[in-house]
Amino acid sequence: MKKLRILFLYVMLFLVCSCRSNFSEQEIVVQVSTIDALLDGVYDGTVSCGELKKFGDFGLGTFDALEGEMIVLDSQVFQVKTDGIAYKVDDSEKTPFAAVTFFSADTKMKLPPGLSYLQFEKMVDQIIGSDNYFYAIKITGHFTMMKTRSVPKQKKPYPQLKDVVKHQKVFEFNNIEGTVVGFRSPPYVKGINVAGYHLHFLTKDKKAGGHILDFKAGDITLEIDVKNNFFMMLPEIQSFKTSNLKKDRTRELHNVEKLSGK
Ligand SMILES: [Zn+2]
Repeated sequence: MKKLRILFLYVMLFLVCSCRSNFSEQEIVVQVSTIDALLDGVYDGTVSCGELKKFGDFGLGTFDALEGEMIVLDSQVFQVKTDGIAYKVDDSEKTPFAAVTFFSADTKMKLPPGLSYLQFEKMVDQIIGSDNYFYAIKITGHFTMMKTRSVPKQKKPYPQLKDVVKHQKVFEFNNIEGTVVGFRSPPYVKGINVAGYHLHFLTKDKKAGGHILDFKAGDITLEIDVKNNFFMMLPEIQSFKTSNLKKDRTRELHNVEKLSGK
């Protein structure tokens, strides 16, 4: 049954790709579940990292039972746990929420040094020129400050994400080199994904990282890949079937994404 579903997905992807000749598989953001389901505590992993890598070499997410932050970079999947260490992840590990794509930069440029996270967001808003597409965002270089977090593995019955982040671990790096991996999603995905910027970080030595709360950039290079296709895989599990996805969780999401955990 599962194999059939995967086959169906490939057929769908093929159709999406072949219907529009200027679309290629490389321009699809593929997502597992929805951000609101994650906020509601749907933490059981449904798609293996092995499967996920078939749909992208670049992206972010989390793991079964909400165990840490996922970074997908150059087809390798890393898991930053609450000990702050980035672990290489086995293909059999599953994710309850992730977004991936094949990254191929449309734009590459050096940015002026000294940008704060907020200044960076405003600058990229200007560069992209439209709110209405998905953008895969990659930054490489030096950061004078990088503040990340990770969340602990949860036990059933799963609490809501807004309660989990009260126990998040926050990491602060100074003068660190690494790669920022993430997306800027359009405002109309509210409820499905994070509208705006959602960025994760992996150090250059690939030993640490996490979900970005704040940074101050040094010398950095920005790469942007515009995406005009979006594909979702919804979990076929009871907790997703019965999750309350009618509620407006905008405020909850803001707190979860930006909470500094001081
Ligand atoms: Zn995140």
